[in-house]
Amino acid sequence: MPVAALQVGRAVGLAAIGLAALGVAGCGSSGSGGPSPSTTTHAAGHRARQAQAGAAAGALVAPAHPAARSVRVPILTYHRVHAYATELTKSIPDLTVEPGTFYAEMTALKDAGYHSISIRQLFDALFGGAALPSRPVLISVDDGYVDDVKTILPALRQLGLRGTFFVITGRFAEPGFVNQDQVRQLAAAGMDVADHTLSHVDLRTQSPDALTAQVAGSRRTLESVLGHPVAAFAYPFGTFNDAVVAQVRRAGFALAMTTQGGTTASAQAPLTIPRIHVGRAETPSGLLSVLGGSASAPSGGAGG
Ligand SMILES: [Zn+2]
Repeated sequence: MPVAALQVGRAVGLAAIGLAALGVAGCGSSGSGGPSPSTTTHAAGHRARQAQAGAAAGALVAPAHPAARSVRVPILTYHRVHAYATELTKSIPDLTVEPGTFYAEMTALKDAGYHSISIRQLFDALFGGAALPSRPVLISVDDGYVDDVKTILPALRQLGLRGTFFVITGRFAEPGFVNQDQVRQLAAAGMDVADHTLSHVDLRTQSPDALTAQVAGSRRTLESVLGHPVAAFAYPFGTFNDAVVAQVRRAGFALAMTTQGGTTASAQAPLTIPRIHVGRAETPSGLLSVLGGSASAPSGGAGG
């Protein structure tokens, strides 16, 4: 997905949404893994560590020969959720959704009976035939802007929704993007954190070594930050070819997302799962009609 703002500078915009919720998710400790001094019992400590590792405690490994199965799950793609007027370096306008609009869209989904699902739920449905909740939707956010923790996470938490955040591991130290602590904060809040490469390049143009660094190297970095396996990947700009997909498979990702429009994931093509871009001009009712409309669309998804 495009990152228009190469340098966003300080992302200062005062989000309209639930800033008070910030800081609740993280434990405040940047330490990872080690048991903290406490009076909890061993069992409680163990459960806490399991909870810390989240739902993705075990690596998700796609079967070599999956049963033919497709699952209709709209996967929404957002980028920035920020007041566009206060972005210091402007992104492509269509990639920035106003915080109030985002909150209204999430509220509309919830009120319409949609249930936000996790990467693991998608994996289990695709490869194991596991049942999904009624009206499933996967809410994904690309590019790892600091909006992830400043506006999006508080909104999702307030509404009891979960999201999947595709982050760029080479930008953790750049202003305007989530840092390592914030990535852990997302995971500790029950969100999925997934990989969007090292530096958001067109993977088709990379040398074999560079491709490995962008995909497998990035996954190793993210797993070391999170302390648990990372199952999902999203292609920058949505661009890929056979060599890119092969690298994504070799790197160990079980699921990978494109920007091709569509709402049906196939167990035969788990590394090219389509998504639905949600742009700046979208409205809550428009979003519902996109989702509802696609319910009766032929499987295989719309072009886009
Ligand atoms: Zn992107």
